[in-house]
Amino acid sequence: MNTEKKTWLDIPESSDFSIHNLPFGIFSTIEGGYRAGVAIGDYIMDLKVLAEYGHFNDLSIDTAVFSQSVLNDFIRLGKPVSRQVRQRLQQLMTQEDSPLRQDQAKALVLQKEATMHMPLAVGDYTDFYSSLEHATNVGSMFRGKENALMPNWKHLPVAYHGRASSIVVSGTPIHRPKGQSMPAGAEKPVMGPSKALDFELEMAFVIGKDSQLGSSITVEEAEEYIFGLVLFNDWSARDIQKWEYVPLGPFLGKNFGSSISPWIVTLEALEPYRMAGPVQQPEPLSYLQNKGKHNFDVALEVSLQPAKGEAQVIARSNFKNMYWNICQQLAHHTVNGCNVRVGDLMASGTLSGKAQDSYGSMLELTWNGERPLHLADGQERAFIHDHDTVSMRGYADKEGRRVGFGEVRTKILPAL
Ligand code: MN
Repeated sequence: MNTEKKTWLDIPESSDFSIHNLPFGIFSTIEGGYRAGVAIGDYIMDLKVLAEYGHFNDLSIDTAVFSQSVLNDFIRLGKPVSRQVRQRLQQLMTQEDSPLRQDQAKALVLQKEATMHMPLAVGDYTDFYSSLEHATNVGSMFRGKENALMPNWKHLPVAYHGRASSIVVSGTPIHRPKGQSMPAGAEKPVMGPSKALDFELEMAFVIGKDSQLGSSITVEEAEEYIFGLVLFNDWSARDIQKWEYVPLGPFLGKNFGSSISPWIVTLEALEPYRMAGPVQQPEPLSYLQNKGKHNFDVALEVSLQPAKGEAQVIARSNFKNMYWNICQQLAHHTVNGCNVRVGDLMASGTLSGKAQDSYGSMLELTWNGERPLHLADGQERAFIHDHDTVSMRGYADKEGRRVGFGEVRTKILPAL
């Protein structure tokens, strides 16, 4: 794609949705039902309307995929198709005599007049645990510094299978979960609303191609199967999690809700921000060896807004810190013959950095509540309160070429 392209549309320099990005999502307006769109500046390009104008006629695809309530069938058409669609949209947004500036202006919808929806029917969801800093922090809190990392951690990307039904789009409130926990010093467990509700700053990749049961995807092949990425908030109830997780891992402390950003940023749009990951020592087994650059430089931040206060940034991290990259994760996930399907979501695990203000969860930022955060209005936070809003943002930027993810924002409501 031509990187020098200039659009005729007035796009603020700080916009996540530059001409280089063109992420896909599902939206609706008062006048129209669910349909596919692509974000550009403050607008959405309405793919259903553009198809009606005939702009995709020469791509020989069934444009009914743009009138559906999820993107799965569009994604299933494959990367050559999504690449052609993005190229056509770039053309329409850069050519001086574009019909979108004239009689076809209704193909551009203001984002503030649209409602965003879940972009996918998520089939299966897996959550990895691939940040060395996060695993080390959590491990030292629960098992001490000497035993922070389990013996397997540097040999395989640890993960658990999560729950797809409770993944919701940005803007959807989540109720504080109830559950069983064992308070410190108690003899019997108690039942009630979680007292240690937390977020996890993550990204997730979307599977764009089915694989066959019994076959494996190599590290080299993995990107063919990855359509794009979203921001991911893996809501976690630490008190429920701590009591239940032995010996089979996360369950009700996790599956009450996860939130994603509405725009899927394609791997293609992230190409300029590709980089090598951290050196892996000990060297992984050969099926996990990684010769390419499969990490991405995406700046991430978390902000917290109390019920009546201002939003403030409480953590800054980066997706590039991930120890096990997305290709290694997918290779490991399928090495035993497990198949993946279009619309599956694979989350990274909490993305913590080295610095104390780069930790991707309250558990780490407050060191399990020992050192609460002080908010601007004088309030303290060990974990998340009812009516708090947590937002995560992410963007890649290189020499003024910006590709962003928008945000995933969630308000926490009291337990039902
Ligand atoms: Mn997680």
